[in-house]
Amino acid sequence: MDVEKQVLNEELTQEGKTESTAAEVKPELKPTVIWRCKDAECKAWVREEFAPDPYPPCPLCKGPTLRSFKHLPAMPKKAKRGKKK
Ligand SMILES: [Zn+2]
Repeated sequence: MDVEKQVLNEELTQEGKTESTAAEVKPELKPTVIWRCKDAECKAWVREEFAPDPYPPCPLCKGPTLRSFKHLPAMPKKAKRGKKK
């Protein structure tokens, strides 16, 4: 049916131009550097920007962590001046 074709085309077009429609529903996901626990059963992780040290211990079990990436909603920048060097 022609109607179905039209719907399909619209979907394809929308996917093609994410720039103009991205801000609507989903928050933008950014690949964010995180430190996650090496223990596979411990799901804890911390954003690198919140980590107190370059190699932070696991916030839950205090075990070693691995540097990794996670797609997270972009953080609104807080006014946290002077603390970061
Ligand atoms: Zn852990």
